[in-house]
Amino acid sequence: MRATKVIAIANQKGGVGKTTTVVNLAAALSELKKTVLVIDLDPQANATSGLGLARQQGTSLYSVITGTSDIADIIQGTPYDGINIIPAELDLAGAEIEIARVENHLGVIRSILDRVLIAGVFDFVIMDCPPSLGILMTSSLAAADGIIVTMQCEYYAMEGLSVITNLIEQFRTNGVNPDLQLEGILMTMYDGRTRLAADVVQEVRTHFGDKVYETVIPRNVRISEAPSFGQPVIYYDPSSRGAEAYRSFAAEFVQRNGPGAASVVQSTTPDSVA
Ligand code: ADP
Ligand code: MG
Repeated sequence: MRATKVIAIANQKGGVGKTTTVVNLAAALSELKKTVLVIDLDPQANATSGLGLARQQGTSLYSVITGTSDIADIIQGTPYDGINIIPAELDLAGAEIEIARVENHLGVIRSILDRVLIAGVFDFVIMDCPPSLGILMTSSLAAADGIIVTMQCEYYAMEGLSVITNLIEQFRTNGVNPDLQLEGILMTMYDGRTRLAADVVQEVRTHFGDKVYETVIPRNVRISEAPSFGQPVIYYDPSSRGAEAYRSFAAEFVQRNGPGAASVVQSTTPDSVA
């Protein structure tokens, strides 16, 4: 029986390395013998295909939200040991509307997840958020124990970050998610040849201190090639700089979460086992 920690990887900007981080953090965690459930919440389904799965209708969280499936039925294996997934499909875009209709809609994803958490088979649930401030993103933040923000090492990286930090603060104080934490900030696509990248990392560290992970993910062509083979980079090119960086990030992430991974025990009713 494991205590599962729920992580949302979020930034309302697109192209900042969220999906890449979901896929590669999951892979590097599984290499460390952690069990992971990836939930792809982006209708574009890039995390789904990046983990080697095709899009299939009726397999996303949408069918659970609409009550046509049970969450236990839509968790699938992947080609990678220790990684399970709830895939995305285009239909998921309709979930925005469905969730909006539900009373207490911010709690929808958490109440679905509670049935998985009580079963205690995963060390981590990692949610890939869509790049917009819609209901799917906000309700996944409301469902999370911690949020990892990925940021590209470019000018204006921090622009819009206050949207997420304000949401965290709001959810903590209004009772939606009192224990929600900014788990950390991961700097991605670092180009060591430019002064700009170093300056941006420095600036973010000045503002957020040790919330910023020591590990910085370099811009690495192997990372960008791997998804078209449906592979995390540690499988696609195990000795590449990209693979090394994501291994180092996973180690840092696990270390921050202490020896027992998640210390937070979920409060759920025992009769709701998935
Ligand atoms: P998001 O999910 O935030 O929209 P992605 O993870 O899909 O961002 O990344 C956007 C694009 O950048 C993708 O084509 C991805 O392959 C590429 N990419 C992400 N991280 C890196 C990296 N460290 N080095 C090179 N390319 C990267
Ligand atoms: Mg994405």
